[in-house]
This record gives sequence, structure tokens and C-alpha cells, in this order.
Amino acid sequence: MPFERILGQDQPVQILKKSIENQTVSHAYLFYGPEGVGKKLAAIELAKALNCLTPGGECCGCDSCRKIDNRIHPDFFLVEPEKKTATSREAAIRIERIRELQKKLIYMPYEGRTKVAVIDGAESMNPQAANTLLKTLEEPPRETTLILTAVNPFQLLPTLVSRCQGIRFSRLPAEIILRVLEKELEEDIAPDLLQLRARRAEGSISRALELDEDRVEAGQQRENLLDLIGGVSFDRMDAVFKWSKTWARKTSALQPLLDELLGLLRDLAVIKVRGQGSLLLNPDLLSQMRPVAQVKPLPALLDMFDSVRETKRQLAGNANTQLALETLLIKFCETRGMP
Ligand SMILES: [Zn+2]
Repeated sequence: MPFERILGQDQPVQILKKSIENQTVSHAYLFYGPEGVGKKLAAIELAKALNCLTPGGECCGCDSCRKIDNRIHPDFFLVEPEKKTATSREAAIRIERIRELQKKLIYMPYEGRTKVAVIDGAESMNPQAANTLLKTLEEPPRETTLILTAVNPFQLLPTLVSRCQGIRFSRLPAEIILRVLEKELEEDIAPDLLQLRARRAEGSISRALELDEDRVEAGQQRENLLDLIGGVSFDRMDAVFKWSKTWARKTSALQPLLDELLGLLRDLAVIKVRGQGSLLLNPDLLSQMRPVAQVKPLPALLDMFDSVRETKRQLAGNANTQLALETLLIKFCETRGMP
């Protein structure tokens, strides 16, 4: 059945299903919301539902749906940003692609009921391309549904946005990302690592699938980092130097590691201010974070936060890694104290 593959987006799916039932499908949609939450997939599923050959749309894989899935349906068009190249620094949708599309939309559907054109990442259209597309929206071709997807609708021409029915997609809860990861990832990953990955994905499936090993490894170090925040002191300089030396070698994992450190410091400050565990980036570590939050004054946590950010900046440049880490930890030692 169309839309079955879209998880965690009940509201958009309900709106689309209803409009198909009531035959009030719009000639232009704007699906907007974070990266990797199912906007493009929903556009493809809508194209399938509008052309499905099975009565009632309870499709089990008819010819039309299969062709759309394989991108060989003559009435289905998908325009995506061209990849970054040596000459253009940003992925873009150029005017030529929009003109090509317009030519194809002049004709009646070839074998389906409705032509569907999806412009994925519509904010990558350059101004000329966007203005050209505007003409199509002003005089929509018959039997055609146009779907724009965008992460940030404010980057689109307001005249474009105003001619589309907007449908908002939200971040996905970690449980849903976990379900998708379990299905999509082929390698065997320990359940606690999968959970960590789902939590680190910020509600985006594409981010969860792309999440690199360094980031996962950094996530596994959170408890060590917490010990460091709570326990670092001038009495334990040997630990400071050992830590700096170990991590200085892991160049690629260093930025993710410092990000985790920032996340923990942020959480400690939240616990300190709000006295509770809501809005945390690391809710699973609440019981370990509480005692650290108790002994660290808020100004110290904020100073540490600034120091980590400064170190991140230095390391993004050409700073000596081990020296930068040692300096960071010495600053940590200086900011310790009782609340
Ligand atoms: Zn079908």
C-alpha cells in the first residue's frame, strides 16, 4: 500500500491520503522539513498512489508502481541537485533542467493518470531556474502534480511558496530511526551501538545511515569524558598528559570527541539550571551526570564549554594537536571548584 514505507510522519501521510480519497490532490506541493525524514520518499509514494493500477490503491506492486520505483515510468520525473563539481562549489539545479522538465509536462500523461514531477532539494535552484519554474506554477499543466521538497522553505522565492500547498515533515523519534537502522544496515552492530547511533542522528534517517565510525567511537567515550570533566585536577596531571597523548593520535576522531564533550558540558549546565533531566542530549547518562553537576559551579561549566570551542577552532586550523589538548585540560583544571 502506498505510504506504508513512510514511518513517523502520520500527519503528512493523513493529509495526502485524504486528498486522494476526496480527489482534492493539489497541483503543487511543498514538502518541507529536516534532511532525511522521508520527504522525497513521500513524494514518490504520492506519485505511485496517483497512478496505481490496483483499485482502491491497495497496491501490492503493480506495473505502474514498480516502474515509478525503478524511475522508468514515462509520467514520473525526478529532478535532483547536480553534485558539486570542480567548477561549482554548491550542488545546484540549473535552469536547463527546469526547461527540460517543462517540455515534458506539456503533453498528456503517456500511460498513467497523472504526471508527477518531483523537484528534490528545491532550494538548490538558482534564481533563473526558480523563476522559470514559477511560470509552470502560474499556469499549471493539466493532469500534473508538482512536488517541491526543501529543508528550508525560507530560501525559496516567496512567489513559489505561495503557489504550493505546504506540508510540514518533522524530525523522527529515535525509536523509528532505530527500526529503520535495524532494517537497512547490513553489518552486525551491537544493540547499544545502534541505539547510540539512532540518538545521535538528530531525527534524520539519512544522517543515521551516514554516521561515521569516528562519531560512533566518540559517542562510546562519553562516560570517560564525563570522568574527565568531573575528575580532572592539578593533582592528576599524569592522567591529563596520558589522555592528551592518546587522543592526539586519533586525528579524525578528535572533532567528534570534542563535540561529545560540548554536549556533556551543555547537559551538565542544563541539569544545573533546571535541576532536572528534560531537554538533554544524553538522557541515558543522567544518573552519571547528576553528581558531576553537583560539584561543578555553573560558571566553571560555561568556561569549560568556551575552552572546548576554542580548541575546536584551533584544531580546525594547524595547531599542534597534543599541545592544544593539554592546554584545554589545564584550563579544565583551573576552573574546578565547589559550587
Ligand atoms: Zn500500484
